[in-house]
Amino acid sequence: MILDGKALSKKILEEIKIEVAKLEKKPHLVVILVGDDPASKIYVRNKKKTALEIGINSTVIEFPADVEENVLINKIQELNNDESVTGILVQMPLPKHIDKDNVVCAIDPKKDVDCFTPENVGKLALGMKPYFYPVTPQGILIMLDYYNIPIEGKNVVVIGRSNIVGKPMAQMLLQRNATVTMCHSHTKNLDDIIKTADIIISAVGKKVVRCKMVKYKSVLVDVGISRDTNGKLTGDLNFSDFKDINEILDFVEAFSPVPGGVGPMTIVSLMLNSLLSVKHTCILSSIAKSCFK
Ligand code: NAP
Repeated sequence: MILDGKALSKKILEEIKIEVAKLEKKPHLVVILVGDDPASKIYVRNKKKTALEIGINSTVIEFPADVEENVLINKIQELNNDESVTGILVQMPLPKHIDKDNVVCAIDPKKDVDCFTPENVGKLALGMKPYFYPVTPQGILIMLDYYNIPIEGKNVVVIGRSNIVGKPMAQMLLQRNATVTMCHSHTKNLDDIIKTADIIISAVGKKVVRCKMVKYKSVLVDVGISRDTNGKLTGDLNFSDFKDINEILDFVEAFSPVPGGVGPMTIVSLMLNSLLSVKHTCILSSIAKSCFK
């Protein structure tokens, strides 16, 4: 089975659009972009485009790369106090002279649609309900639930321990009663560990998962994004030992492709959080129910 994040994201976006249309007060997502990083510009443009398509207001505030930290923090405080703004997202990475922790801590947790603030991250770690769940892990869980992939009691190996994907992913899986193993660049014998997994979630940005080495009929979720030698977008899963797609589908239970898997689900998840930024309760259909358990 292919975990088709692109198709699923279209369905959920349609649902969010319907919910947004019913709202008197529309969500307003403000994205702060610092500098000229081309990848960040593309991400921000895509977020804004998707938001506008489904009726969510979206504003991008751009600052030059040499902006002072206090200017950014003052702007965030202004947005915190602006009732017309329901969600604030600071696009990472920030230039080196800015302490990203100070910037993140300035965001009102009730507007922290990316789940970056210590209050929301801390609540997640304590098993309490944050105002928002982190977007990529939330998108992955929605996708696994939609495809009826059980999580409770399963051995899940998470590769990568970043604050935005690996760590919160592991915490959300623990909340769902999975047995979680976390791996990173110092992990020894990664191939042996991935053989134990019912589900592998890889967020590295390099081809670290040799799919012939995984357990037969395991589920593979590919978060990684990198470019191959031809400049084509690719993920962390290495399928080069397989003859063709049929051989892959015979061997694994399911896998998410890159592009078209986790990426679109991350955007959907941000849109869900933007909707929640107005409502803070969820009346969406079963497709999106998993993230609000
Ligand atoms: P990151 O900050 O780039 O860190 C990468 C992680 O991979 C680190 O924890 C690192 O370990 C680990 N790692 C590096 N080499 C490894 C190896 N050989 N074996 C095992 N682990 C290794 O992480 P990120 O921000 O989560 O991004 C990871 C990837 O996901 C990137 O390609 C990014 O573009 C992509 N991404 C995609 C989406 C999406 O929506 N599709 C969203 C977010 C990120 P250490 O901690 O020891 O350094």
